[in-house]
This record gives sequence, structure tokens and C-alpha cells, in this order.
Amino acid sequence: SYSTRLDRFISANIGVKRGDVRLLLAAKRVTVDGVVATDIAQAIGQFSHVSVDDKVLQATRPRYLMMNKPAGVVSATKDEHHTTVIDLLPAAEREGLHIAGRLDFNSTGLLLLTNNGLWSRRLSLPERNIAKVYTVTVADKLHRDYIEAFAAGMYFEYEGITTRPVELEILSDYVAKLSLTEGRYHQIKRMFGRFQNEVLSLHRDAVGPLKLDPQLLPGQSRHLSADELSSLA
Ligand code: URA
Repeated sequence: SYSTRLDRFISANIGVKRGDVRLLLAAKRVTVDGVVATDIAQAIGQFSHVSVDDKVLQATRPRYLMMNKPAGVVSATKDEHHTTVIDLLPAAEREGLHIAGRLDFNSTGLLLLTNNGLWSRRLSLPERNIAKVYTVTVADKLHRDYIEAFAAGMYFEYEGITTRPVELEILSDYVAKLSLTEGRYHQIKRMFGRFQNEVLSLHRDAVGPLKLDPQLLPGQSRHLSADELSSLA
């Protein structure tokens, strides 16, 4: 995302001198987001809609998608060796998107993508306490002791931090539901690692109030609805 001044923006886009932008404004030939512009220093952001006469110079729309991430793809925009989540999108959707909250290579489920950097940054703010909900399958039998250890937090030496409380609900011998409000590197695998228990599969079901659409097959994606978007605002 970027921000610039209106005069600089117009000058760069249509090749008039910066000093002449004032004349365009005086002639009421410039609109920003549908309103006639009067200030050459007006801030122009990534999603501003700027036109001169009826020529649209920029009208980037913010986009927000959810994907059902399949196992075996990388949560990155580029990778030399593996398919990325961006590669799975329809070609027309790929441009300019980034991932809001990555999932590991073999993890599956709800992944959010956007071209709005402010939105993804806001989503990751720790003080917002947005719960990420996962279903995990492990190699060895789960035990009630896990619940307390996850709730108490674990010290991660490498980062020098103690994890925030994680809610763990044991669903069966090998399956649990987890709720986390942060996402440290390989956090869930490392937490089960303290019990020498291997994570066999990890699936994200929800981010805050937003649930993975059960209609989406692995690899499929769709735009968030207006309601979904405002539920995360
Ligand atoms: N924790 C992990 O270990 N992997 C993920 O993909 C997400 C959380």
C-alpha cells in the first residue's frame, strides 16, 4: 500500500507539470472518490479513485478472499519449488494479493488474502485478541494435562516469550480443538512437541467470527461477503 499527494500522483500519471495540476483543479476537472478536488496536497492512497475529466487514473478496489488451503502448498506469493496459494487463485485474482496470517506447508483450512495492507496489519494486532480456531490430529493419545499446560502458556526460548493462553478442548483420543490469539512460528507443533507428541494434521476452522465456508473444496476460494468483512472490522 502507498500514499502520495494528489499533484504528484496526477503529474506522474498524465505527464503534466506538478505546477499545472493547480490549473486542472481550478477548472474542476479532477475528482477524488467522486468529489471535485480542491487541494493539490490531498492524500491519495492505494484505493483512492482519481479521475481527470472522465479518465480514471486509478480505481484500485480493496479485495478480500478466503481460501480453503490444501496441504502441500506454500503460504507465500512466490516459491521456487512448490505451488503457492497464489498459484491456486483464478488468474484474474492473483495480482497484488498478500496473505493475512500464513499456514504451514501441510496445514489446511481458512486462509485470508487481501490487497489491503492496512487491513491485514490491523487483523494481526495482538491487542485485538482475535481467536484463531484449529482442529488438530496428533500421533499419541491426548491427556487432560495438556489443557492446563496450554492454558498456562509455554516459554519459547528462541523468541524469549511465553505463549498467550491457548484453549484446548479434547474431542477424542487423538483430536483436539484449539483456540489461539497469536501465531508464533510453528506454534502448535512446538506446543505439542513439549509432550513429544507429533501433529499429524492441522486445520484452521475460523479466524474470529469468520468461519471457513464448508462449500469450499481444498484449493478453492471466494470473496468475503460484506457481512463477513464487517464482522472482522
Ligand atoms: N501453528 C502451526 O504449527 N502451524 C500452523 O500452520 C499454524 C499454527
